[in-house]
Amino acid sequence: MPELSIVIPVYNEQANIQLLCEKLMAVSQKLAIKTEYIFVNDGSIDSSIVLIKQLALTNNQVKYIDFSRNFGHQIAVTAGLNYSGGKAVVIIDADLQDPPEIIIDLFTKYKEGYEVVCAKRKNRNEETFFKKFTAKTFYRILKKITSINIPIDTGDFRIIDRKVVELLKQMPEQHKFLRGQISWIGFNQTSIEYDRQERHGGKTAYTYKKMIRFAIDGITSFSNFPLKFVTFAGFLVSGISFLLMLYALYSRLILKHFALGWTSLMLSILFIGGIQLIGIGIIGEYISRMGDNIRNRPLYIVKETNM
Ligand code: UDP
Ligand code: MG
Repeated sequence: MPELSIVIPVYNEQANIQLLCEKLMAVSQKLAIKTEYIFVNDGSIDSSIVLIKQLALTNNQVKYIDFSRNFGHQIAVTAGLNYSGGKAVVIIDADLQDPPEIIIDLFTKYKEGYEVVCAKRKNRNEETFFKKFTAKTFYRILKKITSINIPIDTGDFRIIDRKVVELLKQMPEQHKFLRGQISWIGFNQTSIEYDRQERHGGKTAYTYKKMIRFAIDGITSFSNFPLKFVTFAGFLVSGISFLLMLYALYSRLILKHFALGWTSLMLSILFIGGIQLIGIGIIGEYISRMGDNIRNRPLYIVKETNM
């Protein structure tokens, strides 16, 4: 059993794999521990998998899991965790934005007795203003509306103990937000800071569409705030409608100034509008809970692996 597993999700990273692998191997040599490198090829359409298989030929610590198609970053990491055997597992991006040398600091801190050591982004000079701004805002909103403590400005680059990996395996939800799940698990968690680098080669696969979807996954898995907000809005609208209803009746029956038909029209629109919002909110509460449980497809399909 290796001391350390390194899980690397790969989507079109042919420009980075060679250098990444060299750097990772230098790290485990420095740490002097038995390491396995798990490359999860998430349906790359370049020659990433060819390069990985070449590495595997010359080094039996290099493992690969080749997906049948692109399943997404979080699922790729999940597969890597499921296959991993190390006492500790590092999750790292393939594009060298997470410097492999930081693994030494993560491992050292881990050895002090933490189950999770996250690498927190101190600087992200490499990213566009828009990406930095949206990411910053997202993490702060998420913190406000969840009851668990998800560390701010922290991606999936981290080291986690086997215990945590085994617990993650018991969390079968389909829409993964691993950094939230890991926070939810608890134990002793800490973080160290690092400067996030520029991409070594290739370009990001996280389009804005994917980022938004990921953000919504994070929010819906760890907060019922949006649903509660709808319910609250429903009650608020109903309350206002009720007051307007009284006013409409008053102007109809007492003041006697009204346009014909206006009163009944107003009453029904306002009343129905409020009731509908409450209804949607309540149904949403149920659907979100059901949806969490019934989507029970396999998370990914493995085409080929040497594990
Ligand atoms: N990745 C993946 N599947 C995807 C998208 C990305 O496995 O559908 C991998 C990618 O190869 C990289 C990591 O996830 O190792 C982070 O992706 P990326 O660098 O594109 O995201 P960013 O750093 O820009 O947020
Ligand atoms: Mg990247």
